[in-house]
Amino acid sequence: MVCNQCGSENITKLSLIYQGGVSEVTTTTRTAQGDVRATGRHVTEAARRAAPPEKHDVVGALFFTLFALAVAYCGTQLGNPAFALLSFLAPYARWITIATVALAIIFAYNGIQAYRFNTLRWPALYDYWTRCFQCGKCGEVGPRA
Ligand SMILES: [Zn+2]
Repeated sequence: MVCNQCGSENITKLSLIYQGGVSEVTTTTRTAQGDVRATGRHVTEAARRAAPPEKHDVVGALFFTLFALAVAYCGTQLGNPAFALLSFLAPYARWITIATVALAIIFAYNGIQAYRFNTLRWPALYDYWTRCFQCGKCGEVGPRA
């Protein structure tokens, strides 16, 4: 296999560049209570550029949707004695509910779009990435058959 651009044989799979540049780092700090271990991930610049396509955040969108719905529910309960501390908000209850329901719809829409991206688009992008090489001579990145 050679580079499409310059014909060099010095080409490397993106997935190997990525794996080679990602390392799990463990640090141990000695404290009065004993050793505290922390783990982290170190990613080189080359690995960051060769990284696989990322999935979109469905869980985050779901979380914000539920949170907005919870606030919207509280908006409908502002007249309730249990919400006495927030009674000063009661005159705005309707607007709080309308605004947070609207936010919930936006978050839910984003979540659906993220899910659609992850299930419909991402597999093909990932498959493309697994077939891509980078040339060590001219830097060309692209798939090889
Ligand atoms: Zn090349």
